[in-house]
Amino acid sequence: MSGSPVWHAFTQHGLGEPIPLVTHAEGAALFTADGRRIVDAISSWWVTTHGHCYPRVMEAIRAQTGKLDQLIFAGWTHEPAEEVARGLTAIMPPELTRVFFSDSGSTCVEVALKMALGYWANRGEARHRIVVMEHSYHGDTIGAMSVGARGVFNAAYAPLLFDVGRVPFPGEPQAALDALEAECRAGAAAFIVEPLVLGAGGMLMYGPLLLAEMRAICEAYGTLFIADEVMTGWGRTGTLLACEQAGVAPDLLCLSKGLTGGALPLAVTMASEPIWDAHYSTDRSLTFFHSSSYTANPIACAAAAENLAVWREEPVLDRAAALGVRQRDRLAALEGHPAVANPRRCGTIAAMELGGGDAAYLSDLGPRLLAHFREAGVLLRPLGNTVYVMPPYCIGEDDLDAIYAAIRSAADAIAAGRFS
Ligand SMILES: *Cc1c(COP(=O)(O)O)cnc(C)c1O
Repeated sequence: MSGSPVWHAFTQHGLGEPIPLVTHAEGAALFTADGRRIVDAISSWWVTTHGHCYPRVMEAIRAQTGKLDQLIFAGWTHEPAEEVARGLTAIMPPELTRVFFSDSGSTCVEVALKMALGYWANRGEARHRIVVMEHSYHGDTIGAMSVGARGVFNAAYAPLLFDVGRVPFPGEPQAALDALEAECRAGAAAFIVEPLVLGAGGMLMYGPLLLAEMRAICEAYGTLFIADEVMTGWGRTGTLLACEQAGVAPDLLCLSKGLTGGALPLAVTMASEPIWDAHYSTDRSLTFFHSSSYTANPIACAAAAENLAVWREEPVLDRAAALGVRQRDRLAALEGHPAVANPRRCGTIAAMELGGGDAAYLSDLGPRLLAHFREAGVLLRPLGNTVYVMPPYCIGEDDLDAIYAAIRSAADAIAAGRFS
């Protein structure tokens, strides 16, 4: 063995690509041990909303470390968790009355799936089929992978994954709605979907009208509607939740990433009263059986409570709206470039394909683009040849310009045949 013993996430170490060492961060900037300043154009994998080391969130974390570090959350409670739960129920759809804590996006999805099946099992009805949308991503644990797109990421584990119903991505809206209706009519237990933007599937976007229609179909057949807003929540799409734009409330809501402003790992699954009721009993066999050691960790909850205070007291949605406009203008400037296809935007998220429509994740273009952006001092991590820009809302004009200059020079190189 040589070098670091660290085995990195989603990294093919055999390619020998450099792994920068980051020492500190502020706002939209990362600073490396070798003295470089890198623009974080993807919010460190979609988590950082207000900016890195947001001072009042850091201060809340420091204050909590002097009081309570960790507590069993089965049958015990603490003020930061109570505060987060109260704060969430005050700003999320009123139908979502209950808050269950966990520690990552994948885990809050697992919890939502288990709550959906528990709901039907505890009511004595045999509904257990889960329906999903083509190209969706819900996390990397076995259950979350089962409800996500199948492909190179999970081919080796396919024998462990459970069977689900799949509806097409609504590029063909009627086909998607018909497929969903057929699954619901056949008694599907739940439909899980990323509202408005399918993130890891390639920043694929669809409109709020379709989301509302899908919700209505589920409602008509009693199929539970699970909104995975792990990425789309916290202002990314221009509203607190993407679901708001469709005027819909889910039965189960998954939140993580921006829940702490991106500072610490924490997640919640919010549930409607009927789902709580199905588990509420003096019969212990109807308990919701789920926990992890760090469920509702007090320090993470203190960060989330402060994030909620930021949302109450600061103009976060105005910042997101302003970022959306700046993204729109820069995207428009790339329109018509021979190597730029399908430029699109939803709220603060901008995306496009470079060098043609083939978005295969393992396309050779991916590593070349990565190297190009790294050299330009920009943290962009394309999904195949889909390049997307999802920065913290505090990003400055110069940094946004640097991101788009790097994208333009990559597009120019592709158009000139220098990348193939
Ligand atoms: C990132 C993501 C997840 C998984 O979250 P982790 O914290 O990485 O486990 C689940 N769903 C969606 C939509 C995501 O974008």
